[in-house]
Amino acid sequence: MAERVYFDWNATTPLRVDARAVMRAALDLTGNASSVHAEGRAARRLMEDARAQVAALVGAEPKNVTFTSGATEANMLALTPALEIGGRKAPRDRLFVSSVEHPSVRSGGRFASDAVETLAVDSNGVVDFHALRSAIARAERPLVSVMLANNESGVIQPIRDIANIVHAANGLLHVDAVQGPGRIDCDIKTLGADLLSISAHKLGGPQGVGALIRRGDIHIGEPLIRGGGQERGLRAGTENVAAIAGFGAAAMAAAATWQSDAIRMTELRDRIEAGILARVPQAVIFGQGAPRLPNTTLFAVPGFKAETAIIAFDLNGIAVSSGSACSSGKVQASHVLAAMGVEPELARGALRVSLGWSTSDSDVENLLNALTKVSSSLLKRHENSGLNSGLAA
Ligand code: PMP
Repeated sequence: MAERVYFDWNATTPLRVDARAVMRAALDLTGNASSVHAEGRAARRLMEDARAQVAALVGAEPKNVTFTSGATEANMLALTPALEIGGRKAPRDRLFVSSVEHPSVRSGGRFASDAVETLAVDSNGVVDFHALRSAIARAERPLVSVMLANNESGVIQPIRDIANIVHAANGLLHVDAVQGPGRIDCDIKTLGADLLSISAHKLGGPQGVGALIRRGDIHIGEPLIRGGGQERGLRAGTENVAAIAGFGAAAMAAAATWQSDAIRMTELRDRIEAGILARVPQAVIFGQGAPRLPNTTLFAVPGFKAETAIIAFDLNGIAVSSGSACSSGKVQASHVLAAMGVEPELARGALRVSLGWSTSDSDVENLLNALTKVSSSLLKRHENSGLNSGLAA
């Protein structure tokens, strides 16, 4: 097969070398982390090392890290009315989620659907502070969920300011930080978050493992899975030790290199955007009016259809995406772009290019060369279809 170039890092990242190495070793160990014998203790040790590494990535205490099957589950665990503060029940009466959240947050977690409200965003996809203040004023003890950075547009939310507003209203803040690690700072204290979800496969770890991280005095009062009491009773079931160990190794690598990676990724991303505009000047790049992740660009060309463009890029050896992976299998308009007020016609053509620590200069060249080919054939097709519809009318 011809060389492939991968530009879909927001959907999932390659496994980091360190993660693969610890996972291989872990797969050769026999031992249940709950067993008291030496084999069990070895498995437990791997898991607790990983817990410390994941905790360090977000500036938390290891005891406040709960491993889950991914961020979808971490979000589900966090979004419950049954929260506790400092050992006291502090039930949440309403959940407020921004309109650009991942579907796992927009679903409202364990709240009744009539207790969930959506928060408006501005044309860059940033939460509107005024809308936030007036919405949460209607609740006694609100829980608010706002993502750190959007998986489709890369737009970063001003989480610290949002946390201040939420806390001033007797609220708690959950942050879906999935797209942050390895790209921007994700320190739970700096962000001011009470609960934080992350996922291993977005930072160079394996798929199918993630974590919910809690501020020290916050507790989840209602387990997600009942059974043998693993993960301090919150999430029963024998742990996936190899995956958790890989998560830990990836977290450590991400913590060590994100700053230098971010500088390089920004440079490459900016070169990609300049290249897009040079080849297709009518292209629209979304979210440029707000701070964005260093690795993401979301753009649309009037007349392009995303599905057609993705296939055309794929045939040229390039993997790009239309918005989020979860919805790109289906032809459906992005809720993120709709919330930003983008016309459905333009939104239908939105393409996401996301890169990572191993993206090279030549990958970027290949992408832009493919764009030259793809855009001229797609634009020709668009002109022809315009002509056809003109004749039919
Ligand atoms: N939140 C965001 C912002 C995401 O991008 C994703 C993954 N697409 C998720 C949550 C879900 O993560 P996971 O795949 O680990 O369930």
